[in-house]
Amino acid sequence: MRLLLVEDDRNLNRQIAAALADAGYAVDKAFDGQEGQFLGETEPYDAVILDLGLPAIDGVSILTNWRRDGRKMPVLILTARDRWSDKVQGFDAGADDYLAKPFHMEELLARIRALLRRATGHATSELVSGSVRLDTRSGRVSVDGTPIKLTSHEYRLLSYLMHHSGRIVSRGELTEHLYDQDFDRDSNTIEVFVGRLRKKLGVELIQTVRGLGYLVEAGSPQAA
Ligand code: CA
Repeated sequence: MRLLLVEDDRNLNRQIAAALADAGYAVDKAFDGQEGQFLGETEPYDAVILDLGLPAIDGVSILTNWRRDGRKMPVLILTARDRWSDKVQGFDAGADDYLAKPFHMEELLARIRALLRRATGHATSELVSGSVRLDTRSGRVSVDGTPIKLTSHEYRLLSYLMHHSGRIVSRGELTEHLYDQDFDRDSNTIEVFVGRLRKKLGVELIQTVRGLGYLVEAGSPQAA
């Protein structure tokens, strides 16, 4: 999952970006409104963390512009003051959630997880497909109850496919959603990661749909 973080406080930006990267997300950082608005207009993000008080263009205007242009990604706004009018303005401009500063990083991470699962149609933080379980809180993956050790890139790939289970995900989409903008992208690496992931999981989870991409079936086999 690839996130955009728009926050002009350099210290806070660095802290949040580090926590998000630790949690397994690809993160693009913007430090003013103009840069933030541009990235949100041009890059495909799975969610955005948007500070309201920003130089150049304020957060509410950015959000209003994105929504007017039809950008639908989930947006969590950060408000410096816990003022009810800021929250109302933010929600009315198209925000999906908010957090007032100062906040605990754990709460921000939990809210991002909730936004991502809601945006992809999941109700719980544990994603299941057949015998494979992925816990988005702990970042743990198991097959038939046995824990599987994955690298952060393998986890990102599996997490994206399982969030989007039930539909075909192209290699291009994976490349766009697994790496930040500074990453040296090479579409071949996706195939390499899929190969490694299949080997480690040892079960038929990731299907190749020739010419289109990859598919993970939705849900677990239920007894009728
Ligand atoms: Ca600010």
